[in-house]
Amino acid sequence: MYLLQIEVFGPLGQFNLQEIDRGGVQGDPALADYFVLFGPPGVGKGTQAERLKKGFNLAHVSTGDLFRDHLKRETELGKLAKSYMDRGALVPDDVTIGMVRERMKEPDTWNGMLLDGFPRTIAQAESLDDLLAERGERLKQVLFINAPKPVLLARLGNRLSCRQCGAIYNANTQPPKVPGVCDVCGGEVYQRADDRPEVQLRRIDVYLEQTMPLADYYEGRGLLTKIDGEQSIDEVYESLRQVVERAK
Ligand code: AMP
Repeated sequence: MYLLQIEVFGPLGQFNLQEIDRGGVQGDPALADYFVLFGPPGVGKGTQAERLKKGFNLAHVSTGDLFRDHLKRETELGKLAKSYMDRGALVPDDVTIGMVRERMKEPDTWNGMLLDGFPRTIAQAESLDDLLAERGERLKQVLFINAPKPVLLARLGNRLSCRQCGAIYNANTQPPKVPGVCDVCGGEVYQRADDRPEVQLRRIDVYLEQTMPLADYYEGRGLLTKIDGEQSIDEVYESLRQVVERAK
């Protein structure tokens, strides 16, 4: 597998040779660290992804953030995505998969990646398998954070985000120090259009209909680890940290 990758991708070989040297860890050290952070809207994937990214030096790839970046730059893809995002619907698979394929060409993803908000459909999950197989890799774990609907609605209703860096706040439990100003980058803190109450319910329904079946898909392959999203942010992080540590 390694020799093939070195031949096909050239510079990738360098990273994978480092992987070979990582003796004494559980999981398959021959594989780079590809993880999916899976769960309903509002469960805290973005917050946890930021922490895991720092803790494990993984590239954080959030399709929601990628779409919002296109929106900000007013690209054609951004304009298309907006029409779906504003009503809480999923952006079509071909568009989403194409965007992830482009993102995966960036070298920061070659040694591992934390996918957040992707895949959201079976077709996306199958494409992800193909994209990873193209580089001789496969997913190590799918980290499924779950919480009941009332908890999700309460969190989404209070969620605030930074328009510039994407940092996430909670108006009640974790507001920015200066109202409306991001602690991290000084950008504008706002409520996402799709966090408005009328769109929240639709997003959760879309999740239950189109995304939830992925839990069975991954469980059947022995890749799913369930984590209780009702715990505190620190407790959820600790659970995730242990799973990632073991899988590495
Ligand atoms: P998120 O930030 O993950 O909550 O995503 C915000 C919105 O972006 C979603 O409600 C969808 O409209 C769109 N989106 C994000 N990721 C995907 C995906 N994997 N497939 C389709 N649409 C997506």
